[in-house]
Amino acid sequence: MIFQNFILEHIWNLKPYSSARDEFKGKEGVFLDANENPMGSGVPEKWNRYPDPLQLTIKEQLAAIKQCNVDQIFLGNGSDEAIDLIMRMTCQSGIHNIILCPPTYGMYEVSASINHIEQRKVSLLTNYQLDVAGILEAIDSNTRLLFICSPNNPTGNKLNRTDIYTLIESFKTGFVIIDEAYIDFSDEPSFIQELAKYPQVIVMQTLSKAYGLASLRLGMAFAHPTIISLLNKIKPPYNIGGATQEIVIKALANTSFKKSSVSLLLAERTRLIESLGQIPEVLQIYPSDANFILVRFKNSNELFNYLISEKLITRNRSTVTLCEDSIRITIGLSEENDKLVDLISTFYVA
Ligand SMILES: *Cc1c(COP(=O)(O)O)cnc(C)c1O
Repeated sequence: MIFQNFILEHIWNLKPYSSARDEFKGKEGVFLDANENPMGSGVPEKWNRYPDPLQLTIKEQLAAIKQCNVDQIFLGNGSDEAIDLIMRMTCQSGIHNIILCPPTYGMYEVSASINHIEQRKVSLLTNYQLDVAGILEAIDSNTRLLFICSPNNPTGNKLNRTDIYTLIESFKTGFVIIDEAYIDFSDEPSFIQELAKYPQVIVMQTLSKAYGLASLRLGMAFAHPTIISLLNKIKPPYNIGGATQEIVIKALANTSFKKSSVSLLLAERTRLIESLGQIPEVLQIYPSDANFILVRFKNSNELFNYLISEKLITRNRSTVTLCEDSIRITIGLSEENDKLVDLISTFYVA
């Protein structure tokens, strides 16, 4: 694969901003190079120095966890930043297009719209699997990105791996983005391990879900080192703040939290599915490989509003194509899930 063919020329040739911290990397000395305040920060902690622009300590931890190399990892201010940068790196408004497979994560469309990039939508099939033939038909020589989300949001299911392989092997003019935000809740292996074989793949993950760090905003992209260095070249130089970096380093060092959260949430998912299955007005519970379930209810809008009136907030997906009458429910703590089931039962009895 010749990456240069799929990267905008001005990005490929860009000379990046060189920060003070890029030019001198030592840790010891008197630092009069970056116009920082030597006095400190007005709080007991010291945030007065610019952070590591390439977040190497975090990447070393992640490389060990994800079984990849440091130069295959990009860190962004949430996955949102990675999505935006990938679009800006590959697509020129008015020329290139991307393929989306709704119902899926809304940020692909928003980010493409902000960047004024043509979106070709090929809906999932009614079983929420990829319409491989439809996607291949929608692709043309100006298609630069194909977004695949597995396990998919808001449907919750994982997509057939053979379909993903078929698409990776057939799509020759750009990158296949595989969004694995929910991979920790799935028994499916990550595509990170296949990057060496498929350099046209970019895998996205996040610390917002299983790692419990949504507020810190840390998204990850895993790809060929050439792609990673292009992303690093176009990102804002200090896109991950120092406080975030410090907390993430500590959180990743706690190796048991993610594991125990996932096993508890998976047990709760099973329990919630069983309880909801006993309510006759629950019309369908879709299979989930994520920390949420999509459920089709009788009178879903009224139920959703009732739950809100009882201060229990779910996500109404009733207006989304292929998700008619459906509500997306995040798996909560045991008592929260019990409360949900009680409220739903009360609503239908009344
Ligand atoms: C939640 C989610 C993300 C994570 O986004 P962040 O910006 O990293 O919080 C990414 N993709 C999908 C499909 C999601 O549902």
